[in-house]
Amino acid sequence: MGKKLYHGAAYYPELWDERVIEEDIIEMKKTGINVVRIGEFAWASMEPEEGKYDLSFFKNIINKLHENGIETVMCTPTPTPPIWYSHGHPERMYVDRDGKVMGHGSRQHACTNHPYFRERAALITENIAKEVGSLPGVIGWQIDNEFKCHVSECMCHTCKDLWHLWLKERYESVENLNEAWGTKIWSEYYHSFEQVPQPGPAPFLHNSSLHTMYQLFSMEKIAEFSDGQAEIIRKYSSAPITHNSSVFFSVDNERIFKNLDFASFDTYATIENYPAYLINSDLWRNFKKDRGFWVMETSPSYAASLASYAAPHPNGYLRVEAAAAYALGAEAFCYWLWRQQRAGCEQPHGSVLSAWGKPTVGYENVLEVADLKNEIEPIILSTAPSQAEVAITYSDRGKAFLKTESHRNLNHRSLVTDFYKRILNMGIHRDVVPEGADLEGYKVLFTPFIHYLSSEYIARAREFVEKGGIWIVGPLTGGRTENHTVHTDCALGELEKTAGVEVLYTFPMDDSGTVGRAFDISAPLGMWSSVFEANSETSVGVIEEGLAKGKSFITEHKLGGGKIVMLGSLPIGESGDLQLQKLVHHYSEEANVTLRSDVTQGTIVAPRQGDGFSVWFVINMDGNGGSVTLPQQGVDLQTNTVIEPGKLEIGKFEYKMIQFN
Ligand SMILES: [Zn+2]
Repeated sequence: MGKKLYHGAAYYPELWDERVIEEDIIEMKKTGINVVRIGEFAWASMEPEEGKYDLSFFKNIINKLHENGIETVMCTPTPTPPIWYSHGHPERMYVDRDGKVMGHGSRQHACTNHPYFRERAALITENIAKEVGSLPGVIGWQIDNEFKCHVSECMCHTCKDLWHLWLKERYESVENLNEAWGTKIWSEYYHSFEQVPQPGPAPFLHNSSLHTMYQLFSMEKIAEFSDGQAEIIRKYSSAPITHNSSVFFSVDNERIFKNLDFASFDTYATIENYPAYLINSDLWRNFKKDRGFWVMETSPSYAASLASYAAPHPNGYLRVEAAAAYALGAEAFCYWLWRQQRAGCEQPHGSVLSAWGKPTVGYENVLEVADLKNEIEPIILSTAPSQAEVAITYSDRGKAFLKTESHRNLNHRSLVTDFYKRILNMGIHRDVVPEGADLEGYKVLFTPFIHYLSSEYIARAREFVEKGGIWIVGPLTGGRTENHTVHTDCALGELEKTAGVEVLYTFPMDDSGTVGRAFDISAPLGMWSSVFEANSETSVGVIEEGLAKGKSFITEHKLGGGKIVMLGSLPIGESGDLQLQKLVHHYSEEANVTLRSDVTQGTIVAPRQGDGFSVWFVINMDGNGGSVTLPQQGVDLQTNTVIEPGKLEIGKFEYKMIQFN
C-alpha cells in the first residue's frame, strides 16, 4: 500500500459457484476493480464444525484474484459466529437494554466479551492469519465488520462481571465510586462493586454516571477485542490492519484506531446530505495522519435492505464522491457490494453487478470512477492534503455523554455535522480531529458539544492558545465532570478558570425568548446555555432579550499570544446561522487563516501540497455547478492550459485540478 490508489468492492465468493466467480473476475477487470475485501461474514464456511478449519477455498480465491491483478483485504469473520457457537447457548448471546437475549441469525448476535467467544474468535483469527497471511495477494486486513453498528452495550452476565472489574480498576474502592457518582441520591448507595447494576430496565432514567460509564466500559472492551485480533494477525502477516467504522456506531474510534495501522470508514449518505459524506474524510484522515484512509464501503448507487431503500445517486455523483475522497486523503474507494446478494436481508442493496450478472443502474458510474482514478492517480501520489489551519474536535466519548444527557433528543452526529457544514460552506479548508490530536499547525480550534473536557485536553488547548491560537469553546461544552456530574466549584470547572470568565448560571434557552447580539446581528438563542457575567473587556455577545438580559453569551479572553472564545449558547434559525458564520469569519480573519476560498455552496476546494507546488481539486458535489475565484495564475491539469486568476466556473458534477507554482 501507499504507492497506488485503490478502487475496490466487497466480495462474497463463498456465496457463488465457480462459473460465477470466473465471470466476476472478468467483470472486475473491466470495471477497474483492483482490490476486494473478503471473508467478513464467512465464519461458517471457514469453520463449518467447531474446531474444523478449512481455508483452502479462500486461499484459492485470493491467489486467483492476485493472478488477475486484483488484491485482497482479508477480514476476520467475527460478526457472524456459526450455529455451532450459538445453538443452545443463550448465555453466549448479546443481551439488549431491555434484557432481550438475541438468537442466532442476522449479525452481531453474540456477546463479544464472553470468554468462549474471545477464545473461538482468537482461534479462527489465528487460523486465517496462518493460512493466508503470507500470500502475496493479501495487502491488508480488516478486523471484524462495523463493530456495534446494530448493537450497543451488552447487558449479559459476562458483561456484568467485567463491568465490576472495570469499575474496580477505575475507582479502586466502592466508596470512591459512591462519592464520584453521588449515589446518596435516590438511595442508590452501593456497599460493594458487585452490587452496581448495569443500566438495564428501570422505571425512569438511570444515574448519569452509571449510564455514561457503562458506555465507556463497552467502548473500551470492543477496542480491546480489536487489539487482540490485530496482535494475532501480526504474528503471521506484515500487511497493515484496519477496521471499517463510522461516527454512527457505539464505539470510540480514536481508541480503536490507536492500535491499528490504517483507518477506514463506511458511509451511505445520499447527495442531499453530501456534507455528512465529506465529514468522514476530514475526520478519518486524522486518525492515522501518516497514512491514507480507506472508504471501505459506499454504495455504487443506493443503500437498501428488506426494510428500506435510499434514493439512488444521480448520474455523475459517484465520480465526484470518489474525487472528493481521494483529494481529501483517501487511498481507496470501495463499494458495498460487488454482486447483488441472492439471499439474506440485504438482497435489494445497490451493487455493481446484479445477482443475474448484468450491469446495474450504477455500473456506468463505476466505470467513470475507474477513469477518474487513473486520471488523478499521479497527481494524488505526488501531493498530500494541505495542512488545515482550522480544526474541529470530534469525540466519541463526548457522544456517549450526549447519549446519556440528550436533553431534547439531541443527536451528536447531526449536531457535529451541522456545525461542520457551516465551516465547509464558508470555503474553509478544515480538519475534524480526535480529542488526542496534536494541535500543531492549526490557527483556530473549535470544541463544540463535548459535555466533559479532560484536564489533558484543556492543557493542550491552553498551550495552543498561548502559542497564538484562537480556541472557540462551546456550545454545550465543559459543563460536566469526568464522572458525568455537575461541577461544584464553578459551572464549567477547570475550563471556566482557564477561559477567564465567570458563569453566573446555566439554563435551557430554547423557547425562552432569549435573543443575543454579536457581530452586528441579533439572533434567537437555544440549547442548554451558559450565561457569563457581562464585562466590557471580555464580552463579545450580549443577551438583549429574555431572562438573562444584559449578560453575555460570547466572551473573549486573551492568553499568551492567542485567545479563548467562549460560546455559551447556540444561536439558532437563519439569523443564528448568519451570526455563527460571522463568528467563524471574524476569528478566521483574526487568526490569519489563508486556506480559504469563495467557492460557492455545493462545490468544494480540496487543497493539496506537493514539493514546491500546490493543487486545488475543485469539485461540484450537488449537481448544480458553481464557481471559485483563483487567487493566482494556475495550470489546469486536465487540459494543460494556463488559467488566469479570477473566476473559475465548474459545471454540474465536474471536477478540475488547478496547479499553482
Ligand atoms: Zn455481554
